[in-house]
Amino acid sequence: RTVYVNGAFVPEEAATISVFDRGFLFADGVYEVTTVLGGRLIDFAGHMARLRRSLAELAMDAPADEAEILSIHRELVARNGIEEGMVYLQVTRGAADRDFAFPPAGTKPSLVLFTQEKAVSDNPAAEKGLTVVSVPDQRWARRDIKTVQLLYPSLAKMEAKARDADDAWMVENGLVTEGTSNNAWIILADGTIVTRPRSEAILHGITRSAVLRLAEEAGHRFVERPFSIEEAKGAAEAFITSASAFVMPVVRIDGAPVGAGVPGPLSRRLRQIYIEEARRTAI
Ligand code: PMP
Repeated sequence: RTVYVNGAFVPEEAATISVFDRGFLFADGVYEVTTVLGGRLIDFAGHMARLRRSLAELAMDAPADEAEILSIHRELVARNGIEEGMVYLQVTRGAADRDFAFPPAGTKPSLVLFTQEKAVSDNPAAEKGLTVVSVPDQRWARRDIKTVQLLYPSLAKMEAKARDADDAWMVENGLVTEGTSNNAWIILADGTIVTRPRSEAILHGITRSAVLRLAEEAGHRFVERPFSIEEAKGAAEAFITSASAFVMPVVRIDGAPVGAGVPGPLSRRLRQIYIEEARRTAI
């Protein structure tokens, strides 16, 4: 596999990052994961807009301009022959003597990209649906910034596995924030689609925005408001969204079936609409 590190395409075995890199020492870095479908990138512009925002919120320099970042994505997809999968991009504040204070201006940010091959459109999990369990949300309070500080979501995922579930929905003040690596949604008995509004409490999912827009265009009722685990358990349907999972039905929450305990019709429809749109607009 070829990866990209600070200006060079190299075999993964040959890629190196400094032990002083602030991404390694402080989790002082941000990332994006863009999905590849039919060898093309889904919602690249959306991912770049969020990357710019993450960088700005942390006063971090951009490692390259957008056109260059696009060409690196394409080059990696081509070199690794990716038809379906992901491109992972990470930017850190770069390597400097270890100090909590940021390094002097002019320190070069690190830029790393790699690909992962994965069947995303024909995912058997979409037929089966996911099971989730609730856990307290113990992350920091700026979840709108897509940092590489992912230890708590990783612990939450392990907690889900220990409880024999696929994933965890995190709960704060009695309300669901989001999944470990996805946004959480429910559909009420009257067909209203519900997801939490954007704030510092959740990551502003690129897939979330696309699904809200597509749901509206298809004439579905939706409302952006938080919901509790109790409300979700009693909902007609539930699902999650993320760049790599698209729209993925949730069929059990803390052991209780959601609706009939199988992927719901509107969740399935939204998945279909999303994939069609992604195929049509990928670049
Ligand atoms: N929330 C969290 C915490 C995430 O890690 C992700 C995936 N990056 C998402 C939501 C979904 O975002 P997107 O649709 O942009 O993949």
